[in-house]
Amino acid sequence: MMSSIRLENVSKEFEGSMAVNDLSLEIAAGEFLVLVGPSGCGKSTLLRLLAGLEQVSSGRILQAGEDITDLEPRQRNFSMIFQNYALFPHMTVEQNITFGMRMRNEPKAQHQARVARVADLLQLGELLKRKPGKLSGGQRQRVAMARAIVRDPKLFLMDEPLSNLDARLRTEVRDGIMTLHQQLKTSTVYVTHDQMEAMTMADRIAVLNKGDLQQVGAPQTLYAHPANLFVAGFIGTPAMNIFKLPCAQGVLQIDGQRIALPDTEHARQLTEVYLGIRPEHISDQVSDESEASLRLAASLTYCELLGAEYLNHAQSSLGPLRYLRKNRGAAPHANQQVNLRFSLQDLHFFSGQHQQNL
Ligand code: ATP
Repeated sequence: MMSSIRLENVSKEFEGSMAVNDLSLEIAAGEFLVLVGPSGCGKSTLLRLLAGLEQVSSGRILQAGEDITDLEPRQRNFSMIFQNYALFPHMTVEQNITFGMRMRNEPKAQHQARVARVADLLQLGELLKRKPGKLSGGQRQRVAMARAIVRDPKLFLMDEPLSNLDARLRTEVRDGIMTLHQQLKTSTVYVTHDQMEAMTMADRIAVLNKGDLQQVGAPQTLYAHPANLFVAGFIGTPAMNIFKLPCAQGVLQIDGQRIALPDTEHARQLTEVYLGIRPEHISDQVSDESEASLRLAASLTYCELLGAEYLNHAQSSLGPLRYLRKNRGAAPHANQQVNLRFSLQDLHFFSGQHQQNL
């Protein structure tokens, strides 16, 4: 039976500093949860706590309601996949995959059935008799995954499994992981510092910063409704433009246009607000005009061709900003004057005091 994993007020302290701080989170049965955040935010520590490789300083870890906080790693039946997959070079692919089962003296007939199944899932059938030295990086990573899934774990813990692969292999292995997840539906906690990877793979994303859980939710929720300034700046590429602006009585002004903040007591009292607008929500095309449009005069400083789009860097009365423009018609160029437009509904407001979404 599949089971959910729950972290309750989990903290981990190293020499007086909190790597994970009072964190509560539930991983639903069958869920693919991605932990994301900048370097040093506590992702690996959290994964190691789940694996039982580190002991919590306080808090509890539950599996299907049962307290597993003090269980040894072996007793948890979780499977961990690291970025540096260590395969035994002198063993064949098949021997690598069955190593754990052989150590536990499981019957041979059982090995064969399970190996056949994972080899099929990961398309390793033709490679079973080869040694790791004769495999590509992507194939080696698939073998490492086969070894992790062959024992049918309750939870996969993946620590940046794509980070040592080149761009093409990343896509290949990522697709492999997603196909595998769709077939097995084993709960997975996947760590990455790459928010694009998180957006494309996750059922839900948990954003960490300095050991604190910032927000957890579906990729689209984090993109459309970031809970605070940190999540707003971290989720989405290119990153959201953010401006710190004065405001009074719940109103701020942009180039003489009045913008009302959400109508709350807190917003009315603020004297400063962070205004966020994503580069993909700014346009310099007249045809996109709508009732709710705001305008902003700007001058291009430079234009990066990304392929289908340009990422234009501009100077405006709000400060420097970036926006995306389709690559068609005349190419944009530095010093060009542009009339930018964006819609009220695409604006994000964060408190100037505690940086929470208004
Ligand atoms: P990265 O993306 O760089 O791997 P991370 O988000 O995985 O980073 P962690 O490795 O979990 O971050 O580290 C979180 C914090 O805890 C860091 O400040 C780190 O220096 C500290 N830390 C981790 N392990 C130990 C340890 N064994 N002893 C002391 N401090 C540690």
